[in-house]
Amino acid sequence: MSISTLKRKFEIAAKFAKISQIQKMLKLPKKIATIGSHSALQILKGAKDEGFETICVCERKRVKPYKMFPVADKIIEIDSFRDFLKIEKQLIAENAIVIPHGSFVEYLKTDKIKKLKVDHFGNKNILDWESDRRKQEKWLTAAKIKMPLIFDSPEKIDRPVIVKFHGARGGRGYFLANSTAEFYKRIAAHPDEKFTIQEYVVGVPIYVHYFYSRITRELEILGFDKRYESNADSIGRVAATDQITTNLQTSYTIVGNIPLVVRESLLPYFIKIGERVVEQSQKLEAPGLFGPFCLEGIVTSDLILTVFEISARIVAGTNPYIAGSPYTFLKYNEPMSTGRRIAREIKIAIENNQLDKVLG
Ligand code: AMP
Repeated sequence: MSISTLKRKFEIAAKFAKISQIQKMLKLPKKIATIGSHSALQILKGAKDEGFETICVCERKRVKPYKMFPVADKIIEIDSFRDFLKIEKQLIAENAIVIPHGSFVEYLKTDKIKKLKVDHFGNKNILDWESDRRKQEKWLTAAKIKMPLIFDSPEKIDRPVIVKFHGARGGRGYFLANSTAEFYKRIAAHPDEKFTIQEYVVGVPIYVHYFYSRITRELEILGFDKRYESNADSIGRVAATDQITTNLQTSYTIVGNIPLVVRESLLPYFIKIGERVVEQSQKLEAPGLFGPFCLEGIVTSDLILTVFEISARIVAGTNPYIAGSPYTFLKYNEPMSTGRRIAREIKIAIENNQLDKVLG
């Protein structure tokens, strides 16, 4: 295209269109942006591997890792993630697509995310379903997924329960109780907090990482992880008698993630429940869930996953697999992280003129 044609096109576009339409007309390359926390290193690395320029929006005090690891072509520093809206226009001018992750949802909240005008990967409306426990219950029940019992009143506690505080706080403050009296004793330390009382399920915690492509309409299993939680994961190092004499209490503060593979014979089951979750999401919140998501739960000795949480976006448990998981290696035969899989989806969508299908 000659300079004069380009200029003419630009002038016509500027007269009638918004900046995003001008960018579309000029076919300016898309960039991938996210906020610097949670799984940003993986998302940005994956985007670079797929040939995108990348932007990291970062709190000044957290910028060091994003300078240490060369995954961001540009770093936009802000004082607080709550100032994200102030730099939104800059991201639109950069022609960026924002990738949501756990911290993004936590700091911006779904109502603000819904108002964003910058391109956003994934169905924004589905984020409501992950942050609202009642909606989550409706969705998972419709998908015939087993969930732990919820106690709507402490008076009804008749078995071991785990008490969880609202908001993604990485398990901080959660406590166990065996009776109504014990619940009241322990909740006294948290007078103003909202909580949920859930049946404590005994088994092994498993987080299943899925990806559903709206382009191929295929579900993929990208991996599994388990969390490394303090002090739950080290309490076994203390003898039971010492636990009692020192009045040790279990806590579930997440420190890191541990990679995991499951028995191969369990894969059909995990695929089936993932498919049901996607299918129901399409009925409940069209066009449904697409991109990465995670079922988080406990596998009991009868080999059933009792799901206590669903995340409708990338989870930090995919971070051990920046160079790919055993499962993505089977499918792609090249390093394929969840972050890279997102970028690949966007790339394929752009090449096939279907970008609208992966934004929402
Ligand atoms: P969450 O913040 O919901 O991801 O929970 C943090 C951790 O608490 C999990 O990784 C589990 O170790 C534990 N946990 C949460 N819910 C349950 C439950 N219903 N039964 C047993 N353990 C649970």
